[in-house]
Amino acid sequence: MQYHAFILKYAEIGLKGKNRYVFEDALMRQIKRVLEKCSGEFEVTRTAGRIYVEAENYDFDETVKALQTVFGLTGICPAVTVARDEDGKLPTPEKLAELVSGFMGDVYPDKHKSFKVQVRRVDKSYPLDSMELARDLGAAILESHPDFTVDVHNPDILLHVELREKINMYSEVIPGPGGMPLGTAGRAMLLLSGGIDSPVAGYMIAKRGVEIEAVYFNAPPYTSERAKQKVEDLARVIAKYTGKVKLHVINFTEIQMYIYDKCPHDELTIIMRRYMMRIAEMLAKKSDCMGLITGESIGQVASQTMQSLLCTNAVVESMPVYRPVIAFDKQDIVDISLKIDAYETSIQPYEDCCTIFVAKHPVTKPRLDIIEDHEGNLRDKIDDMVKKAIDTDEIIEITA
Ligand code: ATP
Ligand code: MG
Repeated sequence: MQYHAFILKYAEIGLKGKNRYVFEDALMRQIKRVLEKCSGEFEVTRTAGRIYVEAENYDFDETVKALQTVFGLTGICPAVTVARDEDGKLPTPEKLAELVSGFMGDVYPDKHKSFKVQVRRVDKSYPLDSMELARDLGAAILESHPDFTVDVHNPDILLHVELREKINMYSEVIPGPGGMPLGTAGRAMLLLSGGIDSPVAGYMIAKRGVEIEAVYFNAPPYTSERAKQKVEDLARVIAKYTGKVKLHVINFTEIQMYIYDKCPHDELTIIMRRYMMRIAEMLAKKSDCMGLITGESIGQVASQTMQSLLCTNAVVESMPVYRPVIAFDKQDIVDISLKIDAYETSIQPYEDCCTIFVAKHPVTKPRLDIIEDHEGNLRDKIDDMVKKAIDTDEIIEITA
């Protein structure tokens, strides 16, 4: 069966009242963006709360996969559409019965299945109403393909026949990613390490329509070029959904060594984290980001106890820190990581900067006043070091 169209469904954005057009426009833009990269010719149109993609000379799997990266889509329905004739008339009920039987014959080589026909008659001028049509079309299908059976309660196949500007026929709804279309929210700065959690966190916020910029704290020569490459690969996973990710690579070695020199070792991770947050916030402000994103989850490691989170959070003054996986168990995070194809990359063994400097027994209940006190040891040089780290920011434009 060669489908030549897709009907794209979206839910949440239908509810947005006057803003609906803003959302639909954004959705249209994203659909066109991903289809541009697919082989084939596509025409994307929108009528009355629906988006249609007409497709020619295209690859079905490639196209579906691409559409599944468009946030905001809840369903992708491969469809056959039939246009009106020159006089603007829809096919007669007899012709329609033929078309529908043909559709069922082509799409389902194995006819030992039950079905139900669901008709939506948006064009009320059509001679038969929805109930009558559903009954007649069902009968016609049974007549052409006697192995099918009808089950109106729990059918294997729910065949949708819509009488709109065109006739639409579809029976399969491939799930879309859901969420909100990209570009309808704003931008946020993701602290992206090479682990499992932060790419998932970035994906989850991006899914709400947020553009993602990312920062990676690199510690050469303690961390390898491969570790950095891994982070670039993870940024590319997110870029698959967002089109592009601007990745800042910050050389953190000097700051890390200085903290190592001047502060108690059991507090290293917390203090390093606080400097990461400070620098990320500065970069975020420069790029008009409205929040930071991290992959922290309560209690997962010493630096993510509630006391640690309190200390890390305390340095961020001008914007929210979004932690979408904060209440997730590791397995829940892994499940999403697998789903978005980040997992294989995340589990590659290259060190990120924190694993090198971790203490044997890090504090699990840091106290903010004590941490602040010890950070005082850094006062001579730290501001210059932070400035230098930001001035030498390496920016990598990652595209899908
Ligand atoms: P992840 O799997 O995201 O690395 P994790 O469980 O290893 O998380 P931590 O290493 O404690 O957790 O880091 C907590 C969060 O701090 C990360 O999710 C990430 O947002 C940020 N982070 C940690 N290290 C870095 C780094 N080198 N560069 C950028 N962000 C980092
Ligand atoms: Mg990590």
